[in-house]
Amino acid sequence: MGRPKAHGFFILRPWGKPHGFFGAVDERNQQKVGMMQKTQDLRVGGYKPLVPPRALKEELPVNEASTKTVILGRKCIDNILEGIDRRLLVIIGPCSIHDEKAAFEYAERLTELSKKVEQTMFVVMRVYFEKPRTSVGWKGLINDPNLDGTCDIQEGLRKARRILRRITEIGMPAGTELLETITPQYVDDLISWAAIGARTTESQIHREMSSGLSMPVGFKNATDGNLSTAINAMLAARAPQSFLGIDQDGQTCIVQTMGNSSGHVVLRGGARPNYDALSIEEAHLDLVSRDLPAKIMVDCSHANSKKKFQGQSVVWRNILHQFINGNDAIMGMMLESHLHEGNQKFTGNHADLKYGVSITDECISWDSTEQLLLDAHEKLSRYFFKNGTYGHQSSTRIIDKIQEPLW
Ligand code: PEP
Ligand code: MN
Repeated sequence: MGRPKAHGFFILRPWGKPHGFFGAVDERNQQKVGMMQKTQDLRVGGYKPLVPPRALKEELPVNEASTKTVILGRKCIDNILEGIDRRLLVIIGPCSIHDEKAAFEYAERLTELSKKVEQTMFVVMRVYFEKPRTSVGWKGLINDPNLDGTCDIQEGLRKARRILRRITEIGMPAGTELLETITPQYVDDLISWAAIGARTTESQIHREMSSGLSMPVGFKNATDGNLSTAINAMLAARAPQSFLGIDQDGQTCIVQTMGNSSGHVVLRGGARPNYDALSIEEAHLDLVSRDLPAKIMVDCSHANSKKKFQGQSVVWRNILHQFINGNDAIMGMMLESHLHEGNQKFTGNHADLKYGVSITDECISWDSTEQLLLDAHEKLSRYFFKNGTYGHQSSTRIIDKIQEPLW
């Protein structure tokens, strides 16, 4: 009899006796079990290879106009985080994108509106394709672009790139939540701001991923309201990290990052709202005590608005008031807004979908959006004028100040 062969999880000892997971099983039994029992992929239905990021980027390349938007967006946000640019950063748009036509109509309107307020606010559109779910549900356009459970992720990535290209081409910078750690390789060149959501801020792989992202990243406080999760995420993302990922050719790799110092916290409420002056002061001091820049964004939606669209304007006005009264730790605000207010349940029938209405969180309408931003612009204009900064921070002036070439 020759040497016994190793099967499955059985490993040959140098002296020829197999030993396995169950050390006491005799040799004959080990061979029988090892040959017959499948021990991996027991719950996997299949694998479908994706085209590598480089191939999708070649199919849908970025043009010069988009690149300019992306770089300018990142630069303005960095300047706001550093306090060089005193404008408010406004991340605004639908909770999720499910319809390319409505997304583009929204982007066109927002581009026009953002020009009217550019002296006081830097506007970035929420272009969210990945939705974290508390339990189950539609996970966004990348995961399930046909909204029918077929989960054609390849098509979802293609759609996401196409939408991001169109939006950035008209000069509107895009912000998105990054949920799957493979996704950034397919879309990162088109994004100016990224969010790590309340459900993933504590996740090590999201912190590692953030340390290598090319854009500023906002870390939400946890769903229970815990802010130290976001502060720890900022610290982890600022450090160089080594982790597993893919490169542009889709090859699995050890990714080595240099750290991202453009992280900041986003207060989104928890068990109770956290946009009040005391919560903001607490967040401010927490950041200072960890030697982190005291720059805070407030999400006017989610647990701060109790997920009701009517609550968002209340938070927006309150924060504006705090900012105008000199709270310079506040650097930005987030609003969930769409063409029409509220939300709708997707029943599975596309014909039932109302155009321009969110299928995830409630949003404020376009009319309210316009009203809120124009009203804030007027108030901020007066504030900046009084403080002698009005008119000095427009995007064109910022471009003038940048020494190195932008692209
Ligand atoms: C969102 O921005 O739509 C979202 C899901 O946010 P959060 O992670 O704060 O729940
Ligand atoms: Mn939302």
